[in-house]
Parts: sequence; C-alpha cells; structure tokens
Amino acid sequence: MPLRPHGIGLFGGTFDPIHVGHLRTALELKQAFNLEEMRMIPSAWPPHRLTPFGSVNHRLKMLQLALSEQVEQGLIADDIELGRSGPSYTLDTLSEIRARVGIEASICLCLGIDSFADINTWDKWRSLLDIAHIVVAKRPGWGEPKNQEVLEFMKKWRATSIKQFHEAPAGKIFIMKTTPLRISSTEIRSALLKKEPTSCLLPDTVANYIKENELYQKTRDIL
Ligand code: ATP
Repeated sequence: MPLRPHGIGLFGGTFDPIHVGHLRTALELKQAFNLEEMRMIPSAWPPHRLTPFGSVNHRLKMLQLALSEQVEQGLIADDIELGRSGPSYTLDTLSEIRARVGIEASICLCLGIDSFADINTWDKWRSLLDIAHIVVAKRPGWGEPKNQEVLEFMKKWRATSIKQFHEAPAGKIFIMKTTPLRISSTEIRSALLKKEPTSCLLPDTVANYIKENELYQKTRDIL
C-alpha cells in the first residue's frame, strides 16, 4: 500500500532550551514515518510542569534559530500555541491542525517516552487518538510507562507496523527506537549555570543566543 502522502508530525516541547536530542529525534521520526514535515511547537504555558525558565519569546527564538539550519530537512518551527491564552492543551492544538490539514491526512503526535508515561494527566487524553496517531520515542534512562491506565491504553492501540499508521489518519500508537541521546534541557541549564561546556549538545546558533542574552545564568533560571 502506498504511504499516505500528506502525513505531518507534531513535536511539542518546552524547548528550554532546544537541544540536539530534540532535533535528532524529530528528524529520525520524520524519516521513519515518511512525514512531509515535522512541526516543532513550543508550549507557551505547559499545563503539566513548572513555568519554563526561559520566556516564551526566548524559547521560540532559540527554536527558530535551530530550525533555520533544518528547513531542507522539513523541520519547521510553529508558534500555534503562542496565540492562545491560558494553558497550552495539546488537544486544542491537534484540533486546530486537523482543521488546517483536512480529515484525510495522517497526523503523528511525537513525544518522548517520559512525556508519554504521564499522558493520563493531560486534558481529555484519550481523545488525542481521535485526532492523531501517537509516536513515542524511547529515551535513555526511561523504560516502559508504569501507570496501569497508560499501559492499557498503549496495549489497546499499539500498532505492530509502521504500515498500520498509513492506513488511517489517526488512532494508533507506535513506540520507536531512535538514536539514544542522553541529553536534556535540565542538564544543559545546569551546565550553563556552572559554566561547564555545552558544545555539541546545542546548535552553535542557540549557544550564541544564550550567551548574548545571558540566559540560564542565575540559580532561579535553572532550578
Ligand atoms: P527538561 O529537562 O527541562 O524536562 P527536556 O530535555 O525533557 O526538558 P522538553 O522540551 O521537555 O525537553 O521535551 C520535549 C519533548 O522532547 C518531550 O516529548 C521529550 O520527551 C522529548 N525529548 C527531550 N529530550 C529527548 C531526548 N534526548 N531523546 C528523545 N526525546 C527527547
């Protein structure tokens, strides 16, 4: 069966700051699922975690800088959540994107397994599969989810092949092994605070932006 031509990927995150773990994972998922593009969406007001340390404008700017080198690869910064007030619910974002792309196109909501592990705390989480597929990238240090509800959800909707993803626009879950990169924004913020090198963890453009704007230099910016 031919692959659906209009599949798009959505990769949300706090991106505080964006790092190579995000970029490489997003790219590998885009390739593996033959997606037309991977839209990377900074969360303005993440409902499930503490307020980000970097302002939303800084986080978006860093994402745009990182992705300006990845346009040909089909990685695109999308500020769709910045126009809305209140918490940035993924279901609202999916509904907006579904309205944009029509009912036929596959939408793949991509996330790391640490985020998937507590997906049952997200607003109307079971409805996410009505609008999109969910692609979960493994991440070093994180095993299978432990929560029983999440495990049952995963078992019920898990696809056994990528082919199943291309047979419907939404409704399946796929756990994907990508290049394991033990990189996190938390560790980067902590290294910046301690003036330790962060080379090769971040694109140079992002590292320079952090330096020029003196981001993540005070304890309250990090912890
Ligand atoms: P923090 O350390 O501040 O929690 P983070 O590095 O986990 O940040 P986020 O912006 O919270 O980055 O993550 C956005 C998405 O990217 C999440 O779904 C997360 O699971 C995934 N992700 C982040 N880093 C990696 C990585 N190294 N490998 C695979 N997925 C990742």
